[in-house]
Amino acid sequence: MKQLLTALLITFSLTAFTQSTIIYDVVLKSGRVIDPETKLDAIRNVGILNNRIAQISSESLQGKEIIDVSGLVVAPGFIDLHIHGRSNVEQEYQLHDGVTTALELEWGIEHVGKWYESRKGKALINYGASVNWPFERFKAIGKYKTAVDSLLQITLKGEANIGAMTNTILRAASETITPDALNQTLANIKASLAEGGIGIGVPIGYLPKTNPNEMFQVYKLAGELQALVFSHVRNPDIISIQEAIADAVLTGAPLHIVHINSMSLGNIQLSIDLVAAAKNRGFDITTELYPYTAASTGLQSAMFDEGWQQRLGISYGDLQWVATGERLTKESFEAYRKSGGVVIMHLMKPEWIKTGIATPAVMIGSDGMTYAKLSHPRTAGTFSRVLGKYVREDKVIDLNTAIEKMTLLPAKRLENIAPSMRFKGRIQVGADADITIFNPNTIIDKATFEKGLEFSAGIEYVMVNGSFILKNGKTVANVFPGQAVYGKFKK
Ligand SMILES: [Zn+2]
Repeated sequence: MKQLLTALLITFSLTAFTQSTIIYDVVLKSGRVIDPETKLDAIRNVGILNNRIAQISSESLQGKEIIDVSGLVVAPGFIDLHIHGRSNVEQEYQLHDGVTTALELEWGIEHVGKWYESRKGKALINYGASVNWPFERFKAIGKYKTAVDSLLQITLKGEANIGAMTNTILRAASETITPDALNQTLANIKASLAEGGIGIGVPIGYLPKTNPNEMFQVYKLAGELQALVFSHVRNPDIISIQEAIADAVLTGAPLHIVHINSMSLGNIQLSIDLVAAAKNRGFDITTELYPYTAASTGLQSAMFDEGWQQRLGISYGDLQWVATGERLTKESFEAYRKSGGVVIMHLMKPEWIKTGIATPAVMIGSDGMTYAKLSHPRTAGTFSRVLGKYVREDKVIDLNTAIEKMTLLPAKRLENIAPSMRFKGRIQVGADADITIFNPNTIIDKATFEKGLEFSAGIEYVMVNGSFILKNGKTVANVFPGQAVYGKFKK
């Protein structure tokens, strides 16, 4: 941290003394610059030098490349705390949605250190992942060694995706682990944190039979280390949200509850009140949502164990099979559940989503899926949808608040666990040049449940670590400026 601060001070003093003579690498000219932390919202010129923001000024600046961005909003690059797509295919959809940092934190990634290495120099946007608790427990059980090793091979080849990973490790989902295996799980989590994992992914919703003691011990470790827990709670109900909050409060673990919309369904107001009450009492607990009324997951998962219709308040016809787009019947449900695959669940009401988006401090996270033509549209359209539909069309929140929910709030959420995030989520001198430039009058999501994934419209330029990766609405070819975001325990 000290080094980073020194670097920042040098940048400050350089710009103070030599502002008039500096030739910046890039100048973004005459855009509407919005910084959610300093509350700047004004027409400014932004100078980029050595991958960082080096100047923000109403004076004209000199640059090797000058881009006129008048009429456009210059915002910090969007930070997505919740993605599952691991490759550049999903990253390209995300960069057209304004995302410059996309992190797999709900599940985390198996063999996390090796995965980080495998992405070096290849990523379009910044990447990172939490430590995968279900994987660390699977590994700790011992008898699955062959599966653990073969998963490493497909991870290194870049062929692992959330389906491949969960199909392997959820074989142990219903096993009660021994005290020895529990201790080994905790040791594994610590070792993976030392490889750079950002906190601990705790998707207990996919292992709903987990013994409450096992869960409490994982939170206890998180509390001792101050390692942030990301939880998809045990069931989509209030009691499960209370369980996560209770474990966090009793152990001092910082907690982020993912997709509060699909976890609380019709009880979203109460869920948000619980999170706000914890925060008001000084507990480090936060949440997020995606701006859609449908969820999406594997049909073979525990989510669809006996009683799913009552738990989720839906039936067969509310399920949409991603491979074909068809709505399910009792017969096709049973057949597909055996073969396995991804399903979209139409289960939420528009008012619930509005309530979540309107609440201050609730962040935006996409829960973007592995690519398939008919993947859940959130994979491609989450951030543009918030800005186009919920800000411009429905006026649920204002533009500055929306930008804050997708930049500063997620950056601040991670600062204590991933120190490099202090330089993201802001348009300030010394911040990383992760910048999203969009037209507030035209920005909108294009992906739909019927037609599948499409690039969003209205995102004109995206810069990642000082390099343009999107220009005039088009992907810049053969540029891989994405950098790793690591957790603070990295050795
Ligand atoms: Zn989830």
